[in-house]
Amino acid sequence: MNSRKEFHYVWEYDFHHPPEQVWSFVADTNRFNMLVGLPAVEFLADEDEINLNNRRRLRFTRLGQQIEWEEEPFEWVRPSRYGVVRRYLRGPVAEMRVQVTLTPRDGTHLVYELTARPRNLLGRLAIPAQIGVISKRQFKRAFELYNRSQNYEESSLVHTQEIFNFTPEAEARIERTRGELTARKIDAKFIERLIETVKRADEITLARLRPRVLADEWQTDRRATLELCLYATRAGLLELRWELLCPLCRGANESHETLGEVNSQVHCDSCRIDYTIDFDRSVEITFRPNPAIRKIELQQFCTGGPEVTPHIIAQQLLRAGERRTLNMQLETGSYRIRSPQMAADTFLTIEESGTKEATFAAEDNRWTTSESVISTSPIVTLINETASEQLFIFERTRWSDRATTASEVTSLQIFRDLFSREALRPGEQIRVGQITILFTDLRDSTRYYREAGDAPAFGKVMTHFDVLRACIAEHDGAIIKTIGDAVMAVFQNPAQSLSAVIAAQERLAAAREAPPLKLKAGIHTGACIAVTLNDRLDYFGSTVNFAARLVGVSEGDDIIISEAMKDDPAVAALIETLDEKFSIAPCRAALKGFEQCEIWSVKRKVE
Ligand SMILES: [Zn+2]
Repeated sequence: MNSRKEFHYVWEYDFHHPPEQVWSFVADTNRFNMLVGLPAVEFLADEDEINLNNRRRLRFTRLGQQIEWEEEPFEWVRPSRYGVVRRYLRGPVAEMRVQVTLTPRDGTHLVYELTARPRNLLGRLAIPAQIGVISKRQFKRAFELYNRSQNYEESSLVHTQEIFNFTPEAEARIERTRGELTARKIDAKFIERLIETVKRADEITLARLRPRVLADEWQTDRRATLELCLYATRAGLLELRWELLCPLCRGANESHETLGEVNSQVHCDSCRIDYTIDFDRSVEITFRPNPAIRKIELQQFCTGGPEVTPHIIAQQLLRAGERRTLNMQLETGSYRIRSPQMAADTFLTIEESGTKEATFAAEDNRWTTSESVISTSPIVTLINETASEQLFIFERTRWSDRATTASEVTSLQIFRDLFSREALRPGEQIRVGQITILFTDLRDSTRYYREAGDAPAFGKVMTHFDVLRACIAEHDGAIIKTIGDAVMAVFQNPAQSLSAVIAAQERLAAAREAPPLKLKAGIHTGACIAVTLNDRLDYFGSTVNFAARLVGVSEGDDIIISEAMKDDPAVAALIETLDEKFSIAPCRAALKGFEQCEIWSVKRKVE
């Protein structure tokens, strides 16, 4: 028998769910390889030659034998097929090719094809036993496990039936957390879900608990789930991580325990780029169990599979001069095509009404494109006109909405209360793409003190802080600081800032004080810089300066907003619903240094 003979296996499975859903499971090769019992992999030397176009040299140890291989880049078209070729440098197998296809058929019909070429006699004996019998059985078990888990989306949380064995000390800590969370009046079922996850989820999930993924999985409110994780961190069940994501591969290149360890300049080893982080996108908050309760030994089982980079819809390796046609299924939105060997990228938009066919050609450091607006089910032709191999990467530019960003969490009052010591390293500055800044002040407070008397006035002014604080927290904002009677607050959502002020002004008016306290307010939204001032996380930049100027124009019981605020779609929609009770009018006041800026006054109509 010729030792060059190849072994070819074809396994077929049927799933109840459509390919888009099954894809998230089968193309998550990292988790899949763990589930089928493969050993963890180890990266070998980072040599330019090997790593060209995301090739990797990897190693694992199986049955006491070290197996080393070079992995070609995975190729895929989401959600219909993926494949990979592995060339082994030692061990009984010389080469292995995997090709997986998913076709819609009363759910999904999956075909898993595996071709293995033995290196020697041992390989000829090992392949039929190891792959033909053992792998076949383990794969079937993993697919059945998946089929049983209903409503499976991006990542189901519990894949094993095993419960982690806690030390008595860890059990005591869990018990204490349960008590502290209960004391905060959090629903017992909600608390149990989190504790169950810590007890039963696998390490891949636990290494990166994402509150929005938990919320989607549990069908709970996203904000409440984030708050649960924050409280659970304070209570000692979880640990918070600041992850710095690469803008290309979106992988976490750095993960820090505190904000103070974060540097704004980061390097991505796999993409070989340096990048500057921003709070809106590239800093994600994740959680993991407190190591005193459960220490997570995060291991990697596969590093190049499609679900490692879920924003990449298709990845294809084309030799010089090669052309390839793909049938794709795309959601509407903005996309980019790039190749690690090309300096430029090309951008396109997917619309229902876009063209059905499009061609994208890589030429010497430039792209030529037949169309830039294409349909949601296009036939896409990729052409490599360059003299070298190119890895075509077709990706969505939008960032995942399942990430909780630093910008979101740091503009929550509960975060600022629970983690008041979280601040950037002195001197560090991090860009925030968009944030809404509110300034408030009291009108004529000097006169107010004179008319009401110092002691009563002081009490009322303090109460006004409580009212503001409550209204800001209820509308997902946070107070950054108070300066005399003035307050500076931030919000993720511009419309929420407006609602917060309206609520505060209403509550102050309802108090029917004589004389009444009149709240002045100015709001602007835009980019700014996060910094640490007086040991607290603060913001600066012209967005902040402008918002501070707006409050000076306010007369009390009105809200001065910028053009950027007024044009925000959510604010515009809110103003429309307020229309019966509020008026909005251009404000004539000229602001020194901002003369050309239009500003608007939102005011309750006099009844
Ligand atoms: Zn990267």
